[in-house]
Amino acid sequence: MSANYDVVIVGGGIAGLSLASALAGKCSVALVEAEQTLAYHTSARSARQLIPSYGPPAVQELTLRTLELIAAQDADRPEPVLSPRSFMLIGDDAAVREQASGHMRPISHAEAMELCPALVPDSFTAAGLDTGSFACNAPLLLEDHRRRAEAGGVDIITGARVHSAQRLGSGWELGAGQEGFQAAVVVNAAGAWADELAVLSGVEKVQLQPYRRTAAIVDVEHPLPESCPMVAAADDSFYFRRDGGQVLISPSEHEPSGPEDAQPHPGDIEALIARLNSLTTLGIRGIRTAWTGLRTEAADGVPVVGFDAEARGFFWLAGQGGYGFQTSSGIAELAADLILAGQGAAAVPGGAQAAGPASRTAEALAATRWSIRR
Ligand SMILES: Cc1cc2nc3c(=O)[nH]c(=O)nc-3n(C[C@H](O)[C@H](O)[C@H](O)COP(=O)(O)OP(=O)(O)OC[C@H]3O[C@@H](n4cnc5c(N)ncnc54)[C@H](O)[C@@H]3O)c2cc1C
Repeated sequence: MSANYDVVIVGGGIAGLSLASALAGKCSVALVEAEQTLAYHTSARSARQLIPSYGPPAVQELTLRTLELIAAQDADRPEPVLSPRSFMLIGDDAAVREQASGHMRPISHAEAMELCPALVPDSFTAAGLDTGSFACNAPLLLEDHRRRAEAGGVDIITGARVHSAQRLGSGWELGAGQEGFQAAVVVNAAGAWADELAVLSGVEKVQLQPYRRTAAIVDVEHPLPESCPMVAAADDSFYFRRDGGQVLISPSEHEPSGPEDAQPHPGDIEALIARLNSLTTLGIRGIRTAWTGLRTEAADGVPVVGFDAEARGFFWLAGQGGYGFQTSSGIAELAADLILAGQGAAAVPGGAQAAGPASRTAEALAATRWSIRR
């Protein structure tokens, strides 16, 4: 006997959880996660920074909307999810000039040195600063979405990998672990596994590619001041930021991978430590912990959000790449509008192709992608 829902969300990372919280109380929803714990994969492995100047135009719009939505909720939370932390790019003149527009303004070498005194002065010639950037308490945001979802009646099932999905009458039937589900809409929030989930559902892939990215928390002789921005190389070869008395560092690698529980490659962090010890006065002494996650991208780098044009009731919520947290609430709002607009029009939510209530985020995304099949 299958349990029956309006919407089954597959994937319990930030994408699936933020949509579950946006839909809670508005229709019947189950969220199904393969792992025993929520947010086990990429959503537990981010650098926890939201950067308005980062990414293509649609991502930047979604980031601004996400910041608005999270800030509004922060007003009612005892502990805020967001805290101000600027984002600074350093590099040569040409590389910085290319990116220092819009939300990022060029700053002088002296200003950059003042903001991050740990930089070796001749390690860069130009800098840009995004003061609208925020640190994100990712565990708190994830937990808040889980709590709001459950309070709104969403059933969250962990340790249940979806192994089969097929169209049945006007909806879908899914098998997950030992359980069965029926739903009018299936949401594919399966991260690095999103194309695999499409294939097992008989839906054409959208050619998503997971890319590895590693980060580590390191001990340093000279901790960064609390006011220090997150610092990234304009050529995308590293970034670092303060993490209490330690420092988070990343080699910013972008290496293709299959969907898997990614782990650091030996030597990657050690090579970065040697480099950062020449570019900064941090004096990195050792690695506390290191991890790797998968940033899953479509070919054009824009998240894949919307009903599949061919497979009725199959909704994509994938390809968030390196922007999954900074776009999460904006994308969830947009996705919930689309799913609920479909539900209003017919007994089956899956009919919608156009955006529901016009919103800035919908327009931003519509400009670059609406039809999931290009
Ligand atoms: C090192 C690093 C730093 C990053 N820094 C930032 C940052 O500062 N800011 C930012 O915005 N983003 C950042 N990101 C990107 C961000 O972490 C991702 O975009 C985001 O976590 C993706 O979330 P997701 O929910 O799509 O995927 P995931 O968190 O991977 O969730 C997908 C879930 O689907 C489940 N699943 C898959 N197949 C099935 C199935 N068949 N049945 C049931 N469940 C299934 C998986 O088990 C998984 O839990 C970073 C990423 C990395 C790796």
